[in-house]
Amino acid sequence: MENRVTGVMIYYYFVCKRKLWYFINEINMESDNENVMLGKLLDENSYRRDDKHINIDNVINIDFIKEHQELHEIKKSKAIEEAGIWQVKYYLYYLKQRGVKGLTAKIDYPLIKKNIVVELSEDDEVQLQKIVADIEKLKMQEQPPAFEKQKICGKCAYHDLCFI
Ligand code: SF4
Repeated sequence: MENRVTGVMIYYYFVCKRKLWYFINEINMESDNENVMLGKLLDENSYRRDDKHINIDNVINIDFIKEHQELHEIKKSKAIEEAGIWQVKYYLYYLKQRGVKGLTAKIDYPLIKKNIVVELSEDDEVQLQKIVADIEKLKMQEQPPAFEKQKICGKCAYHDLCFI
């Protein structure tokens, strides 16, 4: 069974915990995708020149710009900006825990031609530890968290499960 907390889970944690529960239970039914080892991130030869999409342990799925040692996440809109920021902070945290330091990160919003820099503070690290523990607990729950209407319900893939 997949035990990792992924970046998308961190994102959904901030979007809607019920959505996160559905998502977790759905992906637990999926088989493993290919794993790309963390070592590859550090392996100079695994990059050509600049941009490269990387997948690490199926936890991180992001663009990496080697020249600037910079992670890039692309989002369509700033509607749930906080969730996106925490997702990217989690990437920095996850990599730092595995010895990859000195990275910076940006979220790009191409549709509005903006980007923001994301940094990881010590407080963020403490917060992320709590969030990961919370998500681990949620994974053990047999029932989804109670329904609470969210702004994004209308566009949510699990809409029908909540609004029948
Ligand atoms: S429909 Fe709304 S409440 Fe239900 S999972 Fe989606 S976002 Fe959450």
